[in-house]
Amino acid sequence: MPDTIMPDATLRAATEQTTEHFDVLIVGAGISGVGAAYHLTKQCPGTSFVALEAQDTFGGTWITHRYPGIRSDSDLYTFGYRFKPWTSAPIATAAEILKYMGEVIDENGIARHIRYRHTISSAAW
Ligand SMILES: Cc1cc2nc3c(=O)[nH]c(=O)nc-3n(C[C@H](O)[C@H](O)[C@H](O)COP(=O)(O)OP(=O)(O)OC[C@H]3O[C@@H](n4cnc5c(N)ncnc54)[C@H](O)[C@@H]3O)c2cc1C
Repeated sequence: MPDTIMPDATLRAATEQTTEHFDVLIVGAGISGVGAAYHLTKQCPGTSFVALEAQDTFGGTWITHRYPGIRSDSDLYTFGYRFKPWTSAPIATAAEILKYMGEVIDENGIARHIRYRHTISSAAW
């Protein structure tokens, strides 16, 4: 018998996947995904949801663009969330935007809804 053949139980464990069901699937944890998570929490309590994020942290644009001096080009008073008014200088660095998003996640218990290093490869609904 070739040694590459796995015993039945090992083969089953390697191929079985757990299926989870959610009412809503959010693509990504950028400013949009985190905002969607916030609004689902506040406006649709009881709705189950998960945000799948391909990167290993939240931020989207503000984590994937890393060149020196990266900052917003419009004001954060309009870019920021209505539910958490921006109170610093109008033009913000990526680091400041990430800090702001981190506060939104922490203050609203959103972290438990985000799964990092998860890429959505297809969707049908
Ligand atoms: C340098 C720079 C400055 C900018 N300045 C401004 C500004 O001042 N004002 C303004 O309004 N806009 C600005 N933008 C545009 C900015 O990108 C958007 O406004 C905003 O950040 C986009 O947020 P988002 O959450 O929609 O998308 P993104 O930030 O792109 O986030 C999407 C997230 O989804 C994840 N994702 C995507 N596909 C999948 C998948 N299949 N599976 C799992 N995860 C996935 C990505 O990894 C990412 O984290 C700027 C952009 C850049 C690059």
